[in-house]
Amino acid sequence: MYLKRLEITGFKSFLHRTVLDFPTGVTAVIGPNGSGKSNIADALRWVLGEQSMLKLRSKKGEDLIFNGSNSRARLSKSSVNLFFDNSSQRLPFEFSEVSIGRKVYRDGQNQYFINNSEVRLKDITELIAKAKLGLKGYTIINQGMADLILNSSQLERREIFEEALGLKEYQLKKKEAFDKLNQATVNLDNVRNLIKEITPHLSFLKKQVGKIEKRDEILNKLEALEKDYFNFVFVKLDGQKKKLILELGELDKKINEAENTFENIDKQIKEQEAKWGGDDGSLSSQRAEINKLEIKQIEINKQLGKIEGLLEAGISNSKTRPVNREKVSDLLKDVKSSLQILENKDINFIKINLKEILIKIDNIISEITADTKAKESDELDVKSNNLKDELVDINKQVNQLKEEMDSATKINKTQREQFTKLHLQLRQKEHEISQLRTQYHRLSLEKEQNLIKEGEFKQFFGVRFDSLLRENTNSDTLTIDSEVVKKEIEKLRVKLEMTSEIDPETQKEYGKLNERYDFLITQSADLENSIENLKKAIQALETQIGEMFTGAFDKISNSFNKYVQMLFNGGKASLVIIKQTRKNDSDELKEEKDMPEIDGVEVKIELPGKKIKGLHMLSGGERALTSVALLLALVSTSPPPFMVLDEVDASLDEYNSQRFSRILKELKKNTQFVIVTHNREVMKEADVLYGVTMEEEGISKLLSLQLAKVEQYSQ
Ligand code: ATP
Repeated sequence: MYLKRLEITGFKSFLHRTVLDFPTGVTAVIGPNGSGKSNIADALRWVLGEQSMLKLRSKKGEDLIFNGSNSRARLSKSSVNLFFDNSSQRLPFEFSEVSIGRKVYRDGQNQYFINNSEVRLKDITELIAKAKLGLKGYTIINQGMADLILNSSQLERREIFEEALGLKEYQLKKKEAFDKLNQATVNLDNVRNLIKEITPHLSFLKKQVGKIEKRDEILNKLEALEKDYFNFVFVKLDGQKKKLILELGELDKKINEAENTFENIDKQIKEQEAKWGGDDGSLSSQRAEINKLEIKQIEINKQLGKIEGLLEAGISNSKTRPVNREKVSDLLKDVKSSLQILENKDINFIKINLKEILIKIDNIISEITADTKAKESDELDVKSNNLKDELVDINKQVNQLKEEMDSATKINKTQREQFTKLHLQLRQKEHEISQLRTQYHRLSLEKEQNLIKEGEFKQFFGVRFDSLLRENTNSDTLTIDSEVVKKEIEKLRVKLEMTSEIDPETQKEYGKLNERYDFLITQSADLENSIENLKKAIQALETQIGEMFTGAFDKISNSFNKYVQMLFNGGKASLVIIKQTRKNDSDELKEEKDMPEIDGVEVKIELPGKKIKGLHMLSGGERALTSVALLLALVSTSPPPFMVLDEVDASLDEYNSQRFSRILKELKKNTQFVIVTHNREVMKEADVLYGVTMEEEGISKLLSLQLAKVEQYSQ
């Protein structure tokens, strides 16, 4: 047998530890009203995890603990343990016996146990679902709940059926999947909201970081270029400076040397001149005298040239013909007389005669001129002769002076040559010094320019000057176009200026936020994926449940018909599937397409000779019989391992009680029954009988009975 033992301690009216063994197919519990029989059914229901106080006929957890009697104090806790024979491993444990336990304390706190280890309620619920010991439906039918299935709605009825068919486990899985789906949907919403929330800030930070990276890029490039440029120019300038200083030093030395030499030569010349002082003075005066004379010579020669020119001009003929005064007088008289013609009035006559007069005047003039020229020529001859004499005299003087000079010169020739040489050397040195100074001046200028350039250069780099100097820089290894590089540096500096300084923490913040963003994106993808999978799983479970349900449904319906006909001695009954939109689960789903249709179950019944239209038209007894028929149909189609029936047989008449007993006999092959009953027919069918009494007021007591003693307890 499956159900092995029930231990009750302090539960409701059971103050003392009470043990019920269930060794056979049907265990009947009998006893007078109010003795505590139904409390046993309650204990079974409760230990299997029931949460409904109504179904436990209580208001709160405290009501389940022995509350004391006139002579006994109340207890602080109650506990129930139910033992299963698990040799068939029907429960997923290796143990041959499995116990489920529950305790409740006065503060309402509950504890659950599997094999004495504390577990969660969930673990109990799952275990029961796996063992197909559903609580919802028909496994434990409490007192007054016999027509539970008939009173249920179509959907509730379907749930009871599913439970009966062992679909509870799948339903639980489905419920779990729905819960997960809802949780995943909520999580996805949250994740999406978070992504939405951080995205603008993230893209802002990304831009900032982009700028920082760009700035770093510019900075790196700038630094490299600055170093190149700096080292190239600095080394060049430094080299030039050093070279110039060296060259200037050398030039300075050369100038000093040349000046010393110059002074030395100058000294020699002055010494020589001092030595030659008198002699040289006489020579100078002689040279000056010669010059004077030579000027005079030139002057005389000029005058002589003039005179000779005049004489050459042809005055010679006047020397041969002297002036004839008489002839001149006669000619003048002839002219005077000829002028008489002016009295003549004939102009032509006057003209002809005037021409003759003019000829006569020309003759007179020629006569007089010839005479004057002759006189002048004589004077020029005298003058020329005087000048020639003077010239001869001068020539004599010059020659004399030259001779004097020559003799003086001949005496100092060697010294003079040396003197001239010294003068030449002096001039050369003077020229050399001048050239050296020009060169020195040029180099000084270059040095100054070098310094200016260095100053500008330092200014270009400011305080970072020292940090830029590379060690062991050799400008020869750098080949850059310094002007191009300088322009590039200036351009980059402007660019850098434009990319404003950004807080370096931004990069860290971006890194963290981006990591979070990636995490959220992955999470959102994971959630979308799991939502998809959950939907598929739910769909698959629904299909499976549907198929299993539909497969078993006809069998239940046929059995129901069979039992109705047995109990009512005729008639007709069936179960009908009604399509409905899911209410419970669909509420948790957001989208309409996720709201599957579900089958509800309607009960149809026709009683022999009666026109019944709906369950509400049945009498109390008929209703009870119909319920029993339906219960039995469920049990026969999908036999549960055990079933607790609390006075479901109360309204059966003797005839039906016999039939019910017969049916029990058939069904107990597959299902263990615990029946609380007052029905003797049912008691007859029981393998074990327990009697419950209240020998001590308010405290239930359990007795194992023989059928013979039944009379005593069945009242
Ligand atoms: P009937 O045959 O009339 O249905 P029954 O044998 O099924 O009766 P129960 O309903 O099981 O009787 O027991 C009811 C009794 O249990 C009552 O007398 C009630 O006072 C007692 N009872 C219920 N709860 C407690 C409790 N917490 N402490 C003590 N006694 C309790």
